[in-house]
Amino acid sequence: MRMENDMKLDFKDVLIRPKRSTLSSRSQVTLDRTYTFRHSKKVWTGIPIMAANMDGVGTFDVAKILEGHKLFTCLVKSYELDDFNKFDVSPEYFAVSTGIGSKDYNHLQEVMKRFPSIEFICIDVANGYSEVFGDFVQMVRKEFPTKTIIAGNVVTADMTQELILRGADIVKVGIGPGSVCTTRIQTGVGYPQLSSIIECADAAHGLGAHIISDGGCTSPGDVAKAFGAGADFVMLGGMFAGHDEGGGKIITELFTTNKVDPKTKKPIYNEKQIVEFYGMSSDTAMDKHHGGVAAYRSSEGRTVQIQYRGKLDKTVKNILGGLRSTCTYVGAPTLKQLSKCTTFIPVTKQYNDVFEE
Ligand code: 5GP
Repeated sequence: MRMENDMKLDFKDVLIRPKRSTLSSRSQVTLDRTYTFRHSKKVWTGIPIMAANMDGVGTFDVAKILEGHKLFTCLVKSYELDDFNKFDVSPEYFAVSTGIGSKDYNHLQEVMKRFPSIEFICIDVANGYSEVFGDFVQMVRKEFPTKTIIAGNVVTADMTQELILRGADIVKVGIGPGSVCTTRIQTGVGYPQLSSIIECADAAHGLGAHIISDGGCTSPGDVAKAFGAGADFVMLGGMFAGHDEGGGKIITELFTTNKVDPKTKKPIYNEKQIVEFYGMSSDTAMDKHHGGVAAYRSSEGRTVQIQYRGKLDKTVKNILGGLRSTCTYVGAPTLKQLSKCTTFIPVTKQYNDVFEE
C-alpha cells in the first residue's frame, strides 16, 4: 500500500479570487475558443461547453439548441443508423459516441460510412485505464486518421498522455464526480475533479492535446472553476437535464404542503412537475439499453427525479452569463485568458445558505 499525502481538491474546496480589471461590462467578454486538434489537425471554433452523452441530455433536440449557441453535444450511444437521416446539426457541434465492444465498433463503422461528414468520435467507457481501451483508441485512430477523437474517462496525467499517444485528440477527465454517479460509493475509486483537471490539462497541453472536464459541475460557478483550472472543454450532464429538449417524460406530482384549507379543513396539495434522470450505468439505463444489469456487475449510477426546467435555451444563457461574469471579476477579456487570470483560494464555506430549504 502507498499513500499520497498532498491534498486533492474539488470545486467545492476553492473560490476564485477577484482581480482588478479594465473590463466594464460582461458584453466585452468573448467565450469563443479556437482549437487545433493534435491528430486530426482540424480547427474548431465555438464555446467549449458540451452536453454529456446521457439519456435526456445527449439528444438530437438538445444538439440543435446548443448548436445555436455554438456549444457541442456528445450524442447518446443508442441512436440507430437511420435516426441520423433526419439530423441536421453541423458536424462542428456534435460527436457520435461509442463503447468498445465489437457491436459498438461495427455500429461506428456503419455510421461513419453512411455519414462521412461526421467529424467527431467520442469513445466513452467508465474506466479508461484498461489496456483494451487504449488498443481500441489506437484502432479507431488508424481507421479514421482525419477525425477528431475524444476518449475517456481517466483522471491522472499518466493515462491522459497514454491515450493521447494512442491517438486521442481530446481526453475526457472525470471518475466519480457525476451528479448521478455512484462509482465512489460502489468502488471507493475516484479523484477530486479540480485536481484532476489541473493535472490532466498540464499533461495534455504538454503534448499539444486537449481535455474535457466531465462531471461534477453543479452551477455556472463550477463551470468557471473548471475552465479556470485549465479545462479546454466542460461537459455537463445534470445541469442540462430536465429540459423539454431532453425528451424525458414530464410527470406531474401532487405533494402535501403541511397546510390546511381554513374553509374545507382539507390538506392543501401543490403540483410539481418532475422528470426522471439517471446515470448511464444505473439499473434504469441497463434495463433500457442492455436488458438488465449483467450478473457479474453492479449498478454504478442512480435514478433521480429532478424538477422539470422548461426550455434549455434559458439554462444555456444563464451558464454563459455566469461565465462572462467570472471573466469580468478576474479581468479576462476572453475565455482563453480565464485560466491565466485565475487564482484559486482554498475555502471551507462556499456560500451563505441561510434561506435554503
Ligand atoms: P454531471 O454533469 O451530471 O455531474 O456528470 C455527467 C457525467 O457523469 C457524464 O458525462 C458521465 O461521465 C458520468 N456518468 C453518467 N452516468 C453515469 C453513471 O451511471 N455512473 C457513473 N459512474 N458516471 C456516470
